[in-house]
Amino acid sequence: MSVSAKISNIARGSLHDGPGIRTVVYFKGCGLRCRWCHNPETFSQKREILFSPTKCIFCGACSAVCPEHHTAGENAVTFLRDGCTACGRCADVCPTLALSLCGEDMDMDTVFAAIEKDRTYYTASHGGVTFSGGECLLQAEAVADIACRCRTLGISTAVETALFVPWENIEQVLPYIDLFYADLKIANSEKHRQYTGQDNALILENLRCLSLAHSNIIVRIPIIPGVNDTADDLEGFARILRSLGPGIRQVELLKYNILGASKYDAIGKTWVRFSDTIQSDEEMHALCITLEARCGLPCIC
Ligand code: SF4
Ligand code: SF4
Repeated sequence: MSVSAKISNIARGSLHDGPGIRTVVYFKGCGLRCRWCHNPETFSQKREILFSPTKCIFCGACSAVCPEHHTAGENAVTFLRDGCTACGRCADVCPTLALSLCGEDMDMDTVFAAIEKDRTYYTASHGGVTFSGGECLLQAEAVADIACRCRTLGISTAVETALFVPWENIEQVLPYIDLFYADLKIANSEKHRQYTGQDNALILENLRCLSLAHSNIIVRIPIIPGVNDTADDLEGFARILRSLGPGIRQVELLKYNILGASKYDAIGKTWVRFSDTIQSDEEMHALCITLEARCGLPCIC
């Protein structure tokens, strides 16, 4: 029987999660709670109902199947989350996807069938598959299973990870992954705990081991205004990067992402806004130049 995993989404045709055209498999569940995260629907490994009131046409189908948790009037709809078992019946009958179920148990035969559909695009564009999340390496057995199958067919593989997992999980997928995108969020451990819920000791140890064990790693740093963009923060990043092994190919700075706000509404959580604007290209370029000079690795943004 094939391995199964909690999957929140499979997105085909992505151009942003590695080289070429890619299929991105989003695993559900993460051990960190980064306060700027733009995929909060992947925090929990449990199934959840996503609710987007702006898509509602007040048809009343949800309240007909589950009056305990839904009321729908002529121009208003409410969803009472407390006590919802995420059975998905309301999402099944919602005609506009205002209600949707996030987090399916999928077997890897099914996931692989979805990946295989775009083989011709991967070949033409030098693309492949990217395992993301959430933290895909919390479900390392499933990632290893499917990445091994991709290897057999010559489909390129990448992982996007925050590395907050036991080293054994990383070791399990190592032989089958062509490219690692490894997050580095905050250099100061106490500040890391303050903004992500965990200190960074395990992450830094894993990054060090990975940089010695694999030769194609891109370190990604999300730059969050007022959180990790001071001269001290950059010096902290540079100190860590200088201490790593030869496997780090590049460092990539990412702009602050404000696209997650509606997702927080959809899962009934509060979004924290760190800035009203994203950084300009010039601001990012200046950070890149500074970091590159201090860490000695190529930096892009
Ligand atoms: S998921 Fe099930 S329990 Fe929750 S609101 Fe919908 S129908 Fe009711
Ligand atoms: S089923 Fe969907 S569209 Fe209809 S009232 Fe409920 S949330 Fe709105």
